[in-house]
This record gives sequence, structure tokens and C-alpha cells, in this order.
Amino acid sequence: MELGVLLWMVLTLMGSTTAQHDQYSGAVDWLSRYGYLPRPDPRTSKLLTKEGIENAIRVMQRFGGVQETGVLDSATLKLMSTPRCSLPDIIGSEDMMKRRRRRKRYALSGLKWHKTDLTWSVHSYPSPSTSPGLHNNLVDNILTYAFKAWSNAAPLRFNQVARGSRAEGDIRVSFSQLLHNDGYPFDGRGGTLAHAFFPFTGDLAGDTHFDDDEVWSYGGGSSSTDLFTVAVHEFGHALGLSHSSSDPSIMRPYYQGPVGDIINFELALDDRLAIQQLYGVKDDNQ
Ligand code: ZN
Ligand code: CA
Ligand code: ZN
Repeated sequence: MELGVLLWMVLTLMGSTTAQHDQYSGAVDWLSRYGYLPRPDPRTSKLLTKEGIENAIRVMQRFGGVQETGVLDSATLKLMSTPRCSLPDIIGSEDMMKRRRRRKRYALSGLKWHKTDLTWSVHSYPSPSTSPGLHNNLVDNILTYAFKAWSNAAPLRFNQVARGSRAEGDIRVSFSQLLHNDGYPFDGRGGTLAHAFFPFTGDLAGDTHFDDDEVWSYGGGSSSTDLFTVAVHEFGHALGLSHSSSDPSIMRPYYQGPVGDIINFELALDDRLAIQQLYGVKDDNQ
């Protein structure tokens, strides 16, 4: 047989499974990015077993609140393509993963601020061309209320550093695209929406970054992303909370649409318990 014909046959045979294979390797990639599988390590070349991957899919399904099938069914693939926070869902050992399998509730990063008066600043605002509805004062306002959601539940105080001031504060907020000097590049519109750094993690501690390729808005709507909802979530990380598998919880990793009225917004019980475990309960006189 001519080499050309043979090659054509091989390629045709491969073609039928390539899409499936791409989907599978895409899913494996996704699972290791969000902590459900160990990061591929060229030094140990630890091979992923079929059982290992199936187990990781089950943990992901349980965490995300879809049926635990262990296979990449449509509900699972849909969840994997839902816009979300870039932080991993499972942080730490396999042991931790087993524990997370059993309990649906909040998780703490193990880090917290050793003060209750925190300052914040906005380093850069959303691009008006991408997020035309959001002028800077509105952004400040939305972020103020997002902090307030947490300070309503725990004895914390947040103050915005005056614009133009040299001080940057504890929590620096910025809107950036793609690579932005922290090793966690954004990915254009969709996919990852934002991330924040836990307290006591070095220079970037508390810093909160939003993907400036998203269409940010006040209230969501017309395929935009509600800034308030994502900000409350990210500030949860900046204060030391990890992702929660509880529903409802603002600390679920997936974007679930706007949470509604920002002035009267209240954290769900799971989130209140999490922040109170770190910083105590707010008494009404504070
Ligand atoms: Zn998150
Ligand atoms: Ca994105
Ligand atoms: Zn970043």
C-alpha cells in the first residue's frame, strides 16, 4: 500500500476519536487546574489511572451539585464550561479531598488577617469600552457594598483609601487582561472571571483581580457578569475563605448569576459561619 493511502486511513480512523480524546484531555486539564487531580509533574511522571480520573470526576460532581456518575456526561461538561473563579476548589492533600467528599460546607484557607480594620484601593477600573455601564464611582459603590456583606456578619471594618493617595491599602483591586504579572493569566471573555490572594501570602496578599475582558455590569443582564456577585466571592478569598460546596453559598466556584439587591444582600448561613469562624461574631452594638 502506498504510504499516502496508509496515512489517509490512519488519519481517518483517528478522526472519529479525536474529538472525544480532546474532550477527555481537556477535562483532565480542567480537573488538575481546579485541584481535583494532582498537577502533572514531569519529575515523578506520576501516571493518572483511569480510576483516579473517574474518582476526581465524582468529587467534582459532588462539589458542583450534579449527579455523581464518574463520567463526563452533559451536566458535567456544562459545569466545566461555566464561567468561574480561577482559584482551585480543593486545596491540599488527597486526604483533604476525601474529607471534602463527605461534607458539603465551607472551607478555610488556614490564613487570616491579624487585624480587623482593613483598607482597600482600586488600582485600575474596568475598561469603559468593554463594560460601558460601569463608571468609576459605581464600581467603588459596588465594591463598598461587597465588603459590607462580610462586615455585616463579622467584626471587620473596611475603608477605601482615598483615590489618588499614595497608600495602596491591604486589598488592592484591579481589572486586568491576560498576563498581568502574577503568574495567573486571565483567558479572554468567559472561562475564568476573577481571583484573589489569601491573607499572608506575600506581596499580593488580599489582592483581588478581575478579568477585564469580561463585560462587567451592575445587576448582570444581557449576557454581562454582575460585578457585585463576583466581588463578594473574591473578597471572601481575600479574607481567608476557600470554595464551598454548600448551596446556597457565595463561595461556590461557579458564577450563578446576579444575587440581587446589593443594599439588602445578606450572606447565606454557610458563608456567615465561615467568616465568623475566622473573625468572630459581630455583636449588634458594633
Ligand atoms: Zn473563588
Ligand atoms: Ca475570562
Ligand atoms: Zn491576577
